[in-house]
Amino acid sequence: MTTSSSPAQRAPSPDVIVVGGGIGGLSSAYALASAGRQVRVLEQSPAFGELGAGLQLGPNATRILRDWGLLDEVTAAGVQPRRLVLKDALDGSELTHLDLGRDFLNRYGAPYVVIHRSDLLDILYRACQRAGVDLVTSARVLRVETGAGSAAAVTDTTAHSGALVLAADGLWSTLRANFSDDEPICSGYVAYRGAIPLAEAADLGQLSLDDVVVYFGPGCHFVQYPLRQGDLLNQVAVFASPAFARGAEDWGGPDELEAVFSRCCAQVRSGTAKLERERRWPMFDRLPVSNWVQGRLALTGDAAHPMLQYLAQGACQAIEDAWTLSMHAPPRGSDGPDEWQEALVSYEKLRTERTAQVQTTARAWGDLWHCDGLTRALRNELLRDRNPADYKHIDWLYGKAVACGLVNLPV
Ligand SMILES: Cc1cc2nc3c(=O)[nH]c(=O)nc-3n(C[C@H](O)[C@H](O)[C@H](O)COP(=O)(O)OP(=O)(O)OC[C@H]3O[C@@H](n4cnc5c(N)ncnc54)[C@H](O)[C@@H]3O)c2cc1C
Repeated sequence: MTTSSSPAQRAPSPDVIVVGGGIGGLSSAYALASAGRQVRVLEQSPAFGELGAGLQLGPNATRILRDWGLLDEVTAAGVQPRRLVLKDALDGSELTHLDLGRDFLNRYGAPYVVIHRSDLLDILYRACQRAGVDLVTSARVLRVETGAGSAAAVTDTTAHSGALVLAADGLWSTLRANFSDDEPICSGYVAYRGAIPLAEAADLGQLSLDDVVVYFGPGCHFVQYPLRQGDLLNQVAVFASPAFARGAEDWGGPDELEAVFSRCCAQVRSGTAKLERERRWPMFDRLPVSNWVQGRLALTGDAAHPMLQYLAQGACQAIEDAWTLSMHAPPRGSDGPDEWQEALVSYEKLRTERTAQVQTTARAWGDLWHCDGLTRALRNELLRDRNPADYKHIDWLYGKAVACGLVNLPV
């Protein structure tokens, strides 16, 4: 996927400059353009694209995608799983499951969807094109200069000015340095992930192709779910690297992947054997910060709230950010200095509170997934006793009423 507008086609004075064209940046660009703003996205890469494979979207995000008119495309490209099944990685037994069917839909008002991340980015990209967003590639922003009523994102050739610059430049955000001197925190866990054609999964034993299946193991977990209407099987293996714990510089290699998962049940071992070894993703997050706005510069997506992926919410929260900002943005023509200021104050307050809760809960959730010994036995017993139709532990995340304290949250 490529294309960049030519300088001649460019709107002379966009209202909003978005730095970064990942899922977060394109979501915000689309939401703001749909609300009538002129938006330009500056992406450092020569093309818009995503690495990795599957992405889970909870109903807190799919409600918003529906409101944006994109949910049909998303469900057509993805899969609506029947259940979220939790299993023990050592013995393969089912611990509990969450029914994602009718009751779930009634309760949360939108489906749980799994989708190839490049398909989601493609849908957002096309939506941005239709909404008239100016999409610019090979534009690496070096810094932002912000004044009273405007800000400029500066590349090595151009200063792109607007009423607002939105930093959507990801986990390793350069622009976050305007807010905090923190650095990404390495969890010592590493992920191997990829999608294989279902035809190549015939020897993987009995797969639950209607479900998202998560195997909890000591210091590791393994996830399997279908993608692209069941044509692909997405797999993710994550583990705590012993070499990282010893302080080694090179850690999380394929030898460790083999060793850690050798203790697991046959289903997990055969799945991990199919994972590509060439590329791996060390897992980072950062601690929540409460300031996301400085003058006319604001943070969004992983630049604002990078989190461990155990709640499958990083992209979902970026979509919530986009929704919230667009709902507060002043209508075009009434955007004097005070109006934007008020919008940004509301955005910062609502989103920092909500995402801090998701970030910290994701860490705790990871501890529960990866425990061993007595804690593992207790966890398994509690989960086995759980009623699969009990949603009380996820209402805070997916619920219509509480989801992000959003104004006019779509229901
Ligand atoms: C293993 C794993 C599994 C995950 N699973 C899920 C899941 O199931 N559900 C979910 O919701 N989330 C999940 N996530 C999280 C999700 O992938 C991220 O939260 C999301 O992709 C962040 O999007 P973003 O646009 O904020 O950042 P990014 O995707 O990092 O995009 C940032 C963009 O900014 C560009 N950029 C950076 N610096 C500059 C610059 N100076 N100038 C111009 N451009 C720049 C980059 O090239 C990039 O395109 C997972 C993450 C991982 C690692």
